Amino acid sequence: MLVQRTIPESSLSIRQPVLVSDLILRDSNEWDSQRISEIFTQPEVDMIMKIPLPLQAIEDKLMWSHTKQGNYTVKSPHHAILFNSDEASSSNPSPHSLWTKIWGAETQPRCKEFMWRTIQNAIPVKLNLFRRGIPTDLTCPLCGEAQESTCHAILTCPEVRSIWFLSPLGLHINLGEGMDLRSWLDLTLSSLPEIGQNWVFSVAWAIWKRRNLWVFDQKRLTPEQVINQASSMNISEAEPREGHMNQNSPIPPRWKPPRPGAFKANFDASVHEDTGTGLGAIFRNHEGKAIIASSFHLRAAYEPAIAEALSLRRTINMAKDENFRIIELESDCLQLVQAWDRSVPHNNYLASIVQDCKDLSSFLDSCSLKHCSRNINGVADHLAKLAFVYQDHFWVGNDPPGTSLLLQQDVVCCTRFEVSTS
Ligand SMILES: [Zn+2]
Repeated sequence: MLVQRTIPESSLSIRQPVLVSDLILRDSNEWDSQRISEIFTQPEVDMIMKIPLPLQAIEDKLMWSHTKQGNYTVKSPHHAILFNSDEASSSNPSPHSLWTKIWGAETQPRCKEFMWRTIQNAIPVKLNLFRRGIPTDLTCPLCGEAQESTCHAILTCPEVRSIWFLSPLGLHINLGEGMDLRSWLDLTLSSLPEIGQNWVFSVAWAIWKRRNLWVFDQKRLTPEQVINQASSMNISEAEPREGHMNQNSPIPPRWKPPRPGAFKANFDASVHEDTGTGLGAIFRNHEGKAIIASSFHLRAAYEPAIAEALSLRRTINMAKDENFRIIELESDCLQLVQAWDRSVPHNNYLASIVQDCKDLSSFLDSCSLKHCSRNINGVADHLAKLAFVYQDHFWVGNDPPGTSLLLQQDVVCCTRFEVSTS
């Protein structure tokens, strides 16, 4: 295993040779954080703890972290120096990528324009008016509870959260620490199919329209009316896709149960720089009934795709332990699904964990992995977050805290689709 930068002098106080294997707890296959802390400086400890460990000892090899494939190319050092970032990294999107996502979207120009003004913090919410020297009461006109910032008006106002949740996106607005509207938007757009992305634009636009109708005309629309307005912006997208929808239903695909005899496993990961990584998984049968769900906590804060891969590995292990023979896995991490589908694996950490998963899955009769949108993966996402509260926990025969509504919603939606498509 290779650390790809020069070890600073402070690390050279090691008195005796130390092998990488000396730093791994054999019983739990985890890094020995105490031993590592004795030898390395804190920034180095943090770097080492983020390296995922494969299940089996594999041969040491060189990896070049500045390309996706993990192999050195002549242009990659120039790229790395110029942009000071990993080509493979998806966690730090550039403003340019958000610009492309907004202006490249297949949706109404007025919605795109509104979204662009929003992320520029250029819409006339009260806080912005105040900053421009216009004397105004800063309180949100809808909830009366907080200052009306752009983020509050579009995302976090209690009056607005319910609209996002009741919309076909089914989004729980949960801004992690340090996350702002711009990073939320980037993350959300990246995880949704095109039709879902269009809904993000139209819902945001309709939320702002509703706010103005209240401020200027004292007319208060219900969440359903706001969603109908947003829907009218998406009319052109109301086409059937992959058999999930009919022409009257511009609703993006929802969770679907597996075929009889199979188990559908949704899994997810949640990473917080300070508190580590949460993994969550849920297995449901062909009736949509939850059979077993779990949360699991890891101390290290892994790269998002690595965290998702570790969640996959744990989910397949659960299937093995529970003796589920036919598994349909769903993940909202496209990078992971692409790594799984790749016939020639890349030379990176992600590929080594995916190889573990493939080895484990060979013990099952059938195991497939498909990509799904984030709204389909809502229960697993919630379970991953529960790991920060419950650490390592299994739920059998009872719904994990806060998931009853999500579980019901999934079943209602899949029933609705069966009715509407028959
Ligand atoms: Zn408010």
